[in-house]
Amino acid sequence: MTTTSPRADLSGGPLDDARAQLAAAIAHLGVSDGIHQMLATSRREMAVSVPLRRDDGSIATYAGFRVQHNFSRGPAKGGLRFSTAVDLDEVRALAMWMSWKCALVDVPYGGAKGGVAIEPRDHSMAELERVTRRYTSEILPIIGPEVDIPAPDIGTDERTMAWIMDTYSASVGHTVPGVVTGKPVSLGGSLGRSMATSRGVAHVALMAMASRGIEPAGATAAVQGFGKVGRGAARLLAEAGVRVQAISDVDGAVWSEAGIDVARLGDHVDEHGSVVGFEAAQVLDPAALVTLDVDVLVPAAVEGVITGANAADVKARIIVEGANGPTTNEADAILADTDVMIVPDILANAGGVIVSYFEWVQANQAYQWTEREVNERLEEKMTRAWHDVVDYAGVHGLSYREAATALAVRRVIEAHELRGLYP
Ligand code: GLU
Repeated sequence: MTTTSPRADLSGGPLDDARAQLAAAIAHLGVSDGIHQMLATSRREMAVSVPLRRDDGSIATYAGFRVQHNFSRGPAKGGLRFSTAVDLDEVRALAMWMSWKCALVDVPYGGAKGGVAIEPRDHSMAELERVTRRYTSEILPIIGPEVDIPAPDIGTDERTMAWIMDTYSASVGHTVPGVVTGKPVSLGGSLGRSMATSRGVAHVALMAMASRGIEPAGATAAVQGFGKVGRGAARLLAEAGVRVQAISDVDGAVWSEAGIDVARLGDHVDEHGSVVGFEAAQVLDPAALVTLDVDVLVPAAVEGVITGANAADVKARIIVEGANGPTTNEADAILADTDVMIVPDILANAGGVIVSYFEWVQANQAYQWTEREVNERLEEKMTRAWHDVVDYAGVHGLSYREAATALAVRRVIEAHELRGLYP
């Protein structure tokens, strides 16, 4: 277990972006350098190596991390990512963003994130189970329902959460449903959790459109990513009357002037594993998706896709960040001089962690809410956070990202100051 200070060789990437956003919020709030330094670093970082016995008997070893950025407002919370792009700095950035996200939507958590540098598509289910259980056993000393609560992220899902819960429970000797969220409903998962991030993205997109006088009927959208976030967001936007003209995944992209039949595309993906080959739409260059002339662009895949290289070509009226960190700070600066509205990640994709919180509450009380209750409370929290951000941005002349970050950082600092610095 190591705790390190910020890197000296800042070279661009999500951690630099996250730290620059924090620095801007600190400058706006007029907070001391000491508090700034404390918030720029993770409270706790664990780097592990995860050996896996492969199905053929050979052994492969993967780097794994769990980073806990802050605990001032409660236990650390955040997803677990399986992707070859995972490294310590990415996980640090994602953990910091979780602290701000939880504070912004006012759930009583700090921020955390985990990752294993593995390509899940190259592994059998049995291998993924073994790697998940071994990773869990490595990070076991620092997770728990009152300490740090993992959830799904890129490359992981409710099955992964079931394995983590089981491994943790076996180790402590009794079932602990509150150690993870995003579990299968039959194991204490919350109704509405699997669609929660998408529902929040669509809800905030519709509020953003309304604020710009854009009616859903007749509006157009492009969605990057067709996984846990993009797929549901595309479906809900289409159900609201929006023509979803373009959708991409890691393998390719499809486009239709009249709007893609999202349910049919979902069936195609379930059958073929990718949007590629979907016959009811045309082939699109995936790189062209972010610069399409649409009302709403939803980057819902990975970080760093709207960059200094393509930001000037963005034609969308509104960007709703379904992914964490899809817009680099360089792109942000370019877009700041345009009319493009950016609904930042820590607001736009907070639906997932909001319902994770509801799941944790239900698990701790061994009581299940109805899906309607979950969805209503989710929309209520998203709506409140949206208005908080819009109002704060208006009063202080900030972008929505600056306002959201400042509000969140202020709440974390408030909690820190009320508790005081130990010892
Ligand atoms: N991985 C999701 C996120 O980035 C959800 C985290 C959670 O529910 O804890 O917000």
